[in-house]
Amino acid sequence: MKFVIRDDDTCGLTRPQELEYSYSKLWDKSPVCLSVTPFRIPKTGERSIGELEERRETLDPVPLGENRDLVDFLKRGIQANRIHVALHGYHHNRPNGLPEYVGGDDLTRKTLHGKEYLESLLNCRISTFVPPNNKLSKDGYAAIIKAGLNVCNRQNYSRMNLRSLAPGDLLELGVTLSYSLRNRMGRNDEFEVRAYPRYKQASYFTAGPTIRLNDLQDSLRACSQSNGTFIIATHYHAFDRLMKSGETVGDAIHTLVEEAQSHPHTEFVSYDALW
Ligand SMILES: [Zn+2]
Repeated sequence: MKFVIRDDDTCGLTRPQELEYSYSKLWDKSPVCLSVTPFRIPKTGERSIGELEERRETLDPVPLGENRDLVDFLKRGIQANRIHVALHGYHHNRPNGLPEYVGGDDLTRKTLHGKEYLESLLNCRISTFVPPNNKLSKDGYAAIIKAGLNVCNRQNYSRMNLRSLAPGDLLELGVTLSYSLRNRMGRNDEFEVRAYPRYKQASYFTAGPTIRLNDLQDSLRACSQSNGTFIIATHYHAFDRLMKSGETVGDAIHTLVEEAQSHPHTEFVSYDALW
């Protein structure tokens, strides 16, 4: 089994101490894949665009590079194989109240620029896109494909493209159909990396306040039995919050890592080992 830790929302506003608080006892056991936003627009939340325009002074993006402490910290972590970086949107804002890669524009340019910016700032190679709010529109998919990125989410490519199929879409549609057919025939592919013609996709499980740890443990065992890929997704700033089953998110992540360690043939890897 391949085991991956996905942690979302590192950006120019993150303090290294926050990441250290959550991961200092974990990243010697498993690399932590941070989903990093290069030019975060803070505090946009769910507000409508009209409200945002009135608050234009708060709309200035915060470039990751302005946070020198964090950049140095990330570079050291990357060199030590403790930290791996994926691209997590560009601004992570909510254009028209929608996730950035559903409601945003100019996504192809932003994706290429965000990837190159992080690669040169952090001296690493980026192969993975984690969509803000886990959602991609057709333009969102086109942007990540153009940038040569793979994706960590659960979306079926074809569903949103049935009305306007282009030749490339047909290939992706065929792959989606073959996975659906296999599922109908009783084959569970939730632990498989999907190989679409132009990108690969891996699904994930969330550790958060609405989830029970024992459900995650059941999935982990099933994944181990099928020698699949288990991605546990969380947020460093949520480690002290309680799961539905009563443990803190941080304790749940530790429990899952320890349990994965006890399974034979577990490899703790970054996304690159999946693609
Ligand atoms: Zn996010």
